[in-house]
Amino acid sequence: MAISESQVKAIVERVLTDMGSQGVNNTNNSNKYSSTQYNGRKFVGVFSDMNEAISAADKGYKAIRSMSVAQREKIITQIRKFTREEAEIMAQIGVAETGMGKVEHKRLKHILVADKTPGTEDIVTQAKTGDDGLTLIEMAPFGVVGAITPSTNPSETVICNSMGMIAAGNGVVFNPHPNAIATSNYAVDLVNRASKVAGGPDILVASMDKPTMESASIMQSHPLIKLLVCTGGPGVVRAVLSSGKKAIGAGAGNPPVIVDDTADIKKAAKDIIDGCTFDNNLPCIAEKEVFAFNNIKEELINNMKKNGAYEITDLQAQKLAEIVLVDVTDKKTGKTKKTVNRKCVGKDASVLLDMIGVNVGQEVRCIICRTDFNHLFVQNELMMPILPIVGVDNIDEAIDLAVKAEHGCRHTAHMHSKNVDNLTRFAKAVETTIFVKNAPSYAGIGFGGEGHTTFTIAGPTGEGITSAKSFTRLRRCVMSENFRII
Ligand code: NAD
Repeated sequence: MAISESQVKAIVERVLTDMGSQGVNNTNNSNKYSSTQYNGRKFVGVFSDMNEAISAADKGYKAIRSMSVAQREKIITQIRKFTREEAEIMAQIGVAETGMGKVEHKRLKHILVADKTPGTEDIVTQAKTGDDGLTLIEMAPFGVVGAITPSTNPSETVICNSMGMIAAGNGVVFNPHPNAIATSNYAVDLVNRASKVAGGPDILVASMDKPTMESASIMQSHPLIKLLVCTGGPGVVRAVLSSGKKAIGAGAGNPPVIVDDTADIKKAAKDIIDGCTFDNNLPCIAEKEVFAFNNIKEELINNMKKNGAYEITDLQAQKLAEIVLVDVTDKKTGKTKKTVNRKCVGKDASVLLDMIGVNVGQEVRCIICRTDFNHLFVQNELMMPILPIVGVDNIDEAIDLAVKAEHGCRHTAHMHSKNVDNLTRFAKAVETTIFVKNAPSYAGIGFGGEGHTTFTIAGPTGEGITSAKSFTRLRRCVMSENFRII
């Protein structure tokens, strides 16, 4: 019996998927997972052509427009349920496909998305009444949203974006990160399965089987795409913001931490290591460099060591910097600059230490080193559990250096202190979207902190901790001289 080319392709994908589900570890297994199916279940809503994906997302949008808000909420409730149930699977695929992060932390991130992403309750109508009657301001959908998502929180971002965008009444098409297609498309399929179970259309959100820069560019210029939402590094955010369309940009950060001499040093050390090592430092909000008062620096470092930190020498730090950062030459300017070595991003501390000949066990979760302000570890967003610590004499110096290290990203900053004046001064000076006081960084996105969560923190365009209302346009309806009941 002859078998067709598509049947052969399906069998190969099945075998590769099965291989992947057996061996989840911290190495890059990107070729082991399929972007179109999982364990023989074909993903719904995944296309080979961006124009087709946009057309499917447009049908999804039209279906949402004909639904009641209660129906939309029913779909969102089902997305929450599936996300909780399948958090472990997505965490495992995420680590296996990208070779980055920690399964348990990724699982927790999915639970956070399920529990704390706002739904339709975020869409609130404003009313203004007066002598001249009634004016309503309603939060309306844009239409089809084009979303670009990162490799660092792939399925978390797809699900969180989908919930907010659907709650706001939009359709969505994703161009996911090429290194996390299987994980991202698993999430796209999850949203579509939830839609079907809750009585919505079979395809509510769409994606690509092989997303490329070209498919992103088709998305950016397509007339049906009314809003672009980009979560990623500076390059992609710049590209989207120069598209000529309304765009939400959630870009890079380099979050500094200040620890002054009024802080609870034991707690500060634990909080900083907990935050810095969460998912191996992949979250853009995670602690990236510390500015510690010199009179408490030793105590802080000693307490960090009690919490799984391993201190390396200057020489070892130099050796590690040569591995985790590589020279890249800009084609246009011919200038060379340091860029993170993708092979090291999101790796375990023990794996990174092994690269410089230091063998330690899994109990070591963070690499710390004493550096000066100009050190490459302070200046670059590494997204690895490596934490440089810079000594400072006073709050003026601490604020000055921490603001400079944040590079004007206006993303996230942290401080451990009991001095309200110091806390206030730093918060005002650094102007970040998120400012966390006396807690691990993840408190800033609602994990052990108050407030809703998001994995799209839009600093450059100002929407901040995005939610359904960020994906709406305001429309006004005026009824003159009537409808006032007082
Ligand atoms: P990345 O910048 O490598 O890529 C993001 C996505 O953009 C991918 O899908 C990629 O293929 C695509 N892309 C890249 N350049 C493009 C271009 N010119 N046009 C169209 N598409 C393009 O992202 P990553 O490495 O996965 O994520 C890490 C970066 O993202 C870090 O800098 C991190 O701080 C940032 N990030 C920010 C947030 C936030 O909420 N602000 C959240 C997660 C990640």
